[in-house]
Amino acid sequence: MPATMTSSVTTRTTCPYCGVGCGVLATRTGEGSIKIKGDPQHPANFGRLCSKGAALADTVGLEGRLLHPEIRGVRSSWDQALEEVALRFREAVEQSGPDSVAFYVSGQLLTEDYYVANKLMKGFIGSANIDTNSRLCMSSSVAGHKRAFGEDIVPGCYDDLELADLIVLVGSNTAWCHPVLYQRIVHAKKQRPTLRIVNIDPRRTATSDLADLHLSLRPGTDVTLFNGLLDYLRRHDRLDLAFLDAQVEGFGEALAMARQSSPSLPAVAAACGLAEADLATFYRWFAETDKTVTAWSQGVNQSSSGTDKVNAVINVHLATGRIGKPGAGPLSLTGQPNAMGGREVGGLANQLAAHMDLEDPQHRQAVQAFWQAPVLAAKPGLKAVELFQAVATGKIKALWIMATNPVVSLPDARAVRRALATCPFVVVSDCEDGTDLKSFAHVRLPALAWGEKDGTVTNSERRISRQRAFLAPPGEARADWWAMTEVARRMGFAEAFTYTHPGEIFAEHASLSGWRNGGTRLFDISGLAPLDVSRYEALEPVQWPVHAACTEGTPRLLASTPLPRGKARMLPLDPRPPANGIDDAYPLVLNSGRIRDQWHTMTRTARSPRLNQHISEPYAELHPEDAARQGLRSGMLVRLSSPWGEALARARISDDQRPGSVFMPMHWSEQFARQGLVNALVNPVTDPLSGEPESKHTPVRLAACDLTWHAFLITRRPKVIPACDYCATIRGDGYWHYELAGQDAPANWQAWAQDLLDEPDGEWIDYMDRSAGRYRCALLRQGRLEACLFVSRSEDLPPRDWLTGLIAQSALTPASRMSLLSGRPANSSDDPGRTICACFGVGLNTLTRAIASQGLRSPEQIGQALRAGTNCGSCVPELKRILADLAVPEVQA
Ligand code: SF4
Repeated sequence: MPATMTSSVTTRTTCPYCGVGCGVLATRTGEGSIKIKGDPQHPANFGRLCSKGAALADTVGLEGRLLHPEIRGVRSSWDQALEEVALRFREAVEQSGPDSVAFYVSGQLLTEDYYVANKLMKGFIGSANIDTNSRLCMSSSVAGHKRAFGEDIVPGCYDDLELADLIVLVGSNTAWCHPVLYQRIVHAKKQRPTLRIVNIDPRRTATSDLADLHLSLRPGTDVTLFNGLLDYLRRHDRLDLAFLDAQVEGFGEALAMARQSSPSLPAVAAACGLAEADLATFYRWFAETDKTVTAWSQGVNQSSSGTDKVNAVINVHLATGRIGKPGAGPLSLTGQPNAMGGREVGGLANQLAAHMDLEDPQHRQAVQAFWQAPVLAAKPGLKAVELFQAVATGKIKALWIMATNPVVSLPDARAVRRALATCPFVVVSDCEDGTDLKSFAHVRLPALAWGEKDGTVTNSERRISRQRAFLAPPGEARADWWAMTEVARRMGFAEAFTYTHPGEIFAEHASLSGWRNGGTRLFDISGLAPLDVSRYEALEPVQWPVHAACTEGTPRLLASTPLPRGKARMLPLDPRPPANGIDDAYPLVLNSGRIRDQWHTMTRTARSPRLNQHISEPYAELHPEDAARQGLRSGMLVRLSSPWGEALARARISDDQRPGSVFMPMHWSEQFARQGLVNALVNPVTDPLSGEPESKHTPVRLAACDLTWHAFLITRRPKVIPACDYCATIRGDGYWHYELAGQDAPANWQAWAQDLLDEPDGEWIDYMDRSAGRYRCALLRQGRLEACLFVSRSEDLPPRDWLTGLIAQSALTPASRMSLLSGRPANSSDDPGRTICACFGVGLNTLTRAIASQGLRSPEQIGQALRAGTNCGSCVPELKRILADLAVPEVQA
């Protein structure tokens, strides 16, 4: 609830990024600025925030916002736009049936938005063609939970990470992707050094630095690994026979298959590409530690056998009875802030609502009766990848996309673009104006952004929290639930869509969860149904179920109470290799994923200069052996090719990669890097049960990018860069930075630069070496650096950090001016180097010098000297790596 503090107003809300769901205190100061702090009372983070959360204030400006509805690129009124949407959807349904229309929504939506979307599509339009970008990140966990528990249930909670004696992190770079949970684990290990951490991931990541054991398994062999563990547990008498007898079925079949697929420790080690001794250590630690949490993320889910991998993890927890107990259980870490809320309302094409099943006639009848709906979808709809394939074949005549950008985030993204270009009617609801999706929309509807939205989200531990508005809606931006309600009314469903406040929607959602439930579904928040608007405003974070028997919520499930739908189920799992293996044409495995300081397609985080400094361009990280085979060096532009497309990225050579594998971040769209789109490469094959794409295993090849010129431009004002083969756009603090490369060089670089910068009254200094293909120029005004351009035939250009620092100076010193076109300061200590700590802008060179000159030996000592790592802590793993790379023996704090 907002609380007045002198002239400032503080609002308790939640972070809009990852599934940790951190509480945030957003304060509007008397001067109108926004200050962000972690909410010390929120049980997900207890006041912590990561670099992204801490930079939220940088992202709330109105620059680049979509603020008015548009029809075919022309501004319209809301009324016109809503009429057009309702008319075109109604026409499509009348002419081609309900399955000719679809919604593609997002884990960024609030639960209230999601609820209205699901109700409109499944109960009133009569199709289940509503799917979500959550399909791309955790639908394998949903399918795995449903197979094991009969319902999509996360049994444990975050506190278990602190109570555990062993934490197994599988396919999860927790340090970068769920940073506050990682900080909680770091803190727990500091308090209790006997806490063991095992990190199972083909890549060595920032998370591996905390691990007592890193298992760099062969990609795709997780089921073999956990099947082997199941058999090991039986052979070493570590099963919980009483729990198995009372609460679990399927043990015999699961064990038989495990023994068949993983007959011995040496066989498993060979199949998984692991040292036998390391594998034996993991199995022994797991066997001897009752308080074990296994947490996983996209490295498990994003696979053509993702559901089996999830069940392989759950199998070993069921076999040992380590489930739903303090410090013990399987824990799926969801990617998005409200992926879980979407699951609760049935926002996936194969779900109903309130954890009811589309295939169950009683459930369908219950939902239809509750909604008083004229029809109810009778069969599952199209899952995300299938949905856009149906767009391509012309089956979908009208599509409404909300809060997501499928032309960037779906696999085989170029095919998605081609499909959308043929779709007769596309509606896009977004708060951003300039996304890659813009050109495909017939109608665009301006949505609210974080800070303006008002509703609820559910995090990875089933905790429902309020996301509260603290900013007025700008322009004509409106809530997504409101836009859908208005369309529903115009389609003839006014009586069922009377909402005027998100609290009314939440109350209806809560009522539905208890409707004809009678203990048959664990998802029951009927205890929240009586909330009026003022109690909804004041709602405190609470973990479902919340009903008459547990009014304060429920931290853990399944330990002692049987499942409503019978026993939990262990699955016999026959390991399947990834759908497409490598061959001579495509000899490397591409793995895509997140980086520390960016979120999804960067529409919000790229607004923050400090978040853009850590990693500024798309990159392809590969092992030194693979790089040597191709003659590649770090910093070169490389071309990645797969059977589905191509992309360009900057090479990084690191033995953190397994030989034969490449990692590339998922974030860059055409908006921020021409040709940097990883999903142009990614295989669109999916898990047969969950429909989740195999984003971690695409066969690719790599080659040096044969371009004739390379350049960078740093300028105070954004510029429209002419066509070239590669252009990465990086927003800095008071400047724009472009990395450029191309095949056809301009005939005259001087004219090109003057044309582009278009600043006739400035002072130009430049330098040309035609024979070397080198050109450098700078534009100054009254002694201040306005812009500079450096061009070369190769990537061998000066570092950018010193030059971007000069932009901040009101006038160049004579020494800086003298050195300007060399690109390097006369005194090397003036160059901070690549940013490591985003919160305090501390660069690699600054760190290296301080470590050497001040004898710093630990991240704590670095923090005392330079403040690096003392705010959000996200850079602490890198500080450790820098110390290790400099061979500085670390001292314990
Ligand atoms: Fe936001 Fe970071 Fe917390 Fe995730 S860990 S919710 S990104 S502050």
